Amino acid sequence: MIAWEGGGMKQKKIPMRRCVGCMESKPKRELMRITAAEGGAKADPTGKANGRGIYLCRRMECFAKAKKKRAINRGLEVNLTEIQLDQLFGELEEVFDIEH
Ligand SMILES: [Zn+2]
Repeated sequence: MIAWEGGGMKQKKIPMRRCVGCMESKPKRELMRITAAEGGAKADPTGKANGRGIYLCRRMECFAKAKKKRAINRGLEVNLTEIQLDQLFGELEEVFDIEH
């Protein structure tokens, strides 16, 4: 016998974060976190690393937008060069499943 729980759909609280590229709020687990580290930035697949962090959709487009707006440097309070940002994207690609 199947027992249905009464009360219909329960509203679960999903933690939302804003992508610094497209500025849309999305469930945290759909985004990738980047954290400031030793004057630079790194991928944070655990989402729990200490320090300042920003979120981005797992899309190349959002990374490109964030890069153009300098949102990564601003959000993390770092000063990455174009080359360092590209290196960061390479690292993100290794850690996350990124849509191109
Ligand atoms: Zn986005």
